[in-house]
Amino acid sequence: MYVYADNAATTQVSRRALDAMLPCFRELYGNASSLHTPGQKAAELLQQAREDVAAAIHADHKEIYFTSGGSEADNQAILTAAQIGARKGKKHIISTAFEHHAVLHTLERLKKQGYDVTLLDVHENGVVTAEEVAAAIREDTALVTVMFVNNEIGTVQPIQEIGAVCRERGVLFHTDAVQAVGHIPVDVQEMNIDMLSLAGHKFHGPKGVGAMYVRRGIPVSVLIEGGQQERGKRGGTENIPGIVGLAAALNEALETQEQDMAHLAAMRDRLIDGLSQIPHSRLNGDRERRVPGTVNFCFEGIEGESLLLLLDEKGIAASSGSACTSGSLDPSHVLLALGLPHEVAHGSLRLSFSADVTADQIDYIIASVTEVVAYLRNMSPVWDELERGLLPHQI
Ligand SMILES: *Cc1c(COP(=O)(O)O)cnc(C)c1O
Repeated sequence: MYVYADNAATTQVSRRALDAMLPCFRELYGNASSLHTPGQKAAELLQQAREDVAAAIHADHKEIYFTSGGSEADNQAILTAAQIGARKGKKHIISTAFEHHAVLHTLERLKKQGYDVTLLDVHENGVVTAEEVAAAIREDTALVTVMFVNNEIGTVQPIQEIGAVCRERGVLFHTDAVQAVGHIPVDVQEMNIDMLSLAGHKFHGPKGVGAMYVRRGIPVSVLIEGGQQERGKRGGTENIPGIVGLAAALNEALETQEQDMAHLAAMRDRLIDGLSQIPHSRLNGDRERRVPGTVNFCFEGIEGESLLLLLDEKGIAASSGSACTSGSLDPSHVLLALGLPHEVAHGSLRLSFSADVTADQIDYIIASVTEVVAYLRNMSPVWDELERGLLPHQI
């Protein structure tokens, strides 16, 4: 059996997204800035995609800026808020300790430029509260940036409540919604979101394309200087195939969202119940407040990397932590933010699904993980000491 269980890292481009993209390479290859007919055809495709993306998050098409992906959108949104703040002498930013590195590293850079950054605790359950955000807001706070859904553990943050707090206090609110858009309902109006990032490849669109939403009236800072594309806020010839593919994938995701969420939640719960049977294992992140498709477990005494390699041999493509950091031996900053000890955070497994996952595949994963964990523990000197009571169990 083969199971691709790493959809939080990236997804397969859907048939419908691919079909929408293909004509853009050969027949409709015009530059959307050109005045001739092929150029205007491309401009029409671009406009339609912009309207579709706007509608998907309840924004206006004039509030959507296409980018090269989620990372660029995060960078540009945070830079925008930082520059607006600086003009008013406000150089304090609030975020959380378990953001994606596109956010955390941008904040690191701002710190070097004299900004003060408060990273809120996300607690053992991986959820920050609106009250904690409210308590951290100061006179000089320029921005609150809190991710919608954590990419490693799948917990959902109280975005609407945080947005309400920010709106009331007059602070800009950005959310990295890369793991939310397409997967769960997102409404920038109802949720009081000023800026948002999304990426096509996390919902069966292509890689290398994303979008930033910025509420009307907020002056957008330029990250990529160039031509007048994206209303002068993002230079570079538009990636029409990518943008068209992103919009097609998003339309498709929204059409099936309700039934996909129900199916995925059932599969996820079956998996959580199965993996919980493994002794000294723990589910990371709140059991209830999570997206339907992502599960993250720790198994005491197990190295994440060995687990992944053995599962790969069984045809299961999974991940330990995020794709960006799993090449390194450092434990995940997300799991450390939950307060897990280093040795436990090393043994994590993230399984993330798309809507076509079957109960048979879930059962195969449960059986395989159970077998591989037992096999690895059998060979582990550390596990031996734990079992003989020479070391205390952490889980
Ligand atoms: C994948 C991801 C990103 C980065 O998006 P790219 O399109 O790969 O640049 C940012 N934030 C989160 C939460 C993600 O999951």
